[in-house]
Amino acid sequence: MALQVNGVTVRYGGLTAVSGVDLSVADGEVLALLGPSGCGKSTLLRAVAGLERPDEGEIRWDGRDLADVPVHRREFGLVFQDGQLFPHRDVAGNVAFGLRMRGVERGGQADRVAELLELVGLAGYERRRVTELSGGEQQRVALARALAPHPRLLLLDEPLSALDRALRDQLAVDLADLLRRTGTTALLVTHDHDEAFTLADRVAVMSAGRLLQVGRPAEVWRRP
Ligand code: ADP
Ligand code: ADP
Repeated sequence: MALQVNGVTVRYGGLTAVSGVDLSVADGEVLALLGPSGCGKSTLLRAVAGLERPDEGEIRWDGRDLADVPVHRREFGLVFQDGQLFPHRDVAGNVAFGLRMRGVERGGQADRVAELLELVGLAGYERRRVTELSGGEQQRVALARALAPHPRLLLLDEPLSALDRALRDQLAVDLADLLRRTGTTALLVTHDHDEAFTLADRVAVMSAGRLLQVGRPAEVWRRP
């Protein structure tokens, strides 16, 4: 298993946000954490991202305690609900950001940026200003930026929730296709049943900080 979450508990003062969660994600698998707002999904994702330290338990990546893996060796990509693009850079500048950080030279950057924009359905958008793009286009840029350096694990926190229903459904289908074609290992946080069932190989249902069940979409309890 690429990622193993073993008995992880995260507390904020007296509040237990995540309680004794065990979970694993295999190479190439897309796992969705599904549950209502406030059930601890984001906290668990943030712990995997190394932004939150578990009070109990451990998170293992490639068999090593995550705390012992330097941040630059984790090779994680992150996408949040609101994209968090760099507003003063154009589309290419945003997508190339992670490549520059990894020392990819300029020629290679341009090729990879063009390839990624094609992949997310924004071919030719290199010189567009991100502030002039629609919400859906901005999320596509955020995905391209996260995927550009070939992350070994993509962490998606409600990546489609800021979009309207029709666009969300379309982008969920596109994203599912994109993840399968690129063989990306991903952990997705969502409160949206349809999104989880469209995107994930397995769904982990959370409630009040606990994991209720984990299984393939067909096996997991569905709200009527
Ligand atoms: P979800 O992602 O499922 O909506 P969260 O992980 O964001 O849930 O939150 C789980 C619980 O932890 C909630 O009760 C929330 O208010 C609380 N919480 C989240 N982040 C913090 C924080 N930084 N400080 C204090 N409480 C927090
Ligand atoms: P430092 O003390 O230099 O910040 P740490 O080793 O405490 O370094 O933590 C490095 C990063 O890894 C921090 O962002 C921390 O939140 C995160 N971290 C530490 N231990 C764990 C763990 N067991 N699981 C997940 N993340 C962790």
